[in-house]
Amino acid sequence: MKESCQKKTLISTPEAEILHCSCGIYHVALENMTLHLSPVQFRKVARVFKLALGMMTVQQKPKAPVARKLFVQSK
Ligand SMILES: [Zn+2]
Repeated sequence: MKESCQKKTLISTPEAEILHCSCGIYHVALENMTLHLSPVQFRKVARVFKLALGMMTVQQKPKAPVARKLFVQSK
């Protein structure tokens, strides 16, 4: 990273911060690590995370309502 790099905050939350550098690199700061990604890598990673999140939602959906129903019936 050059001295002249200027970082712009894209998003800042308690969990993570994403900065876009003037040289094009995206800095994804998580709790205990920082990812330095090129625009292409950033898009790929974002896409993969989104897909993984979708998979998790799909896997969790059928379980939750069943468990709640059983709990109510057992009262
Ligand atoms: Zn930079």
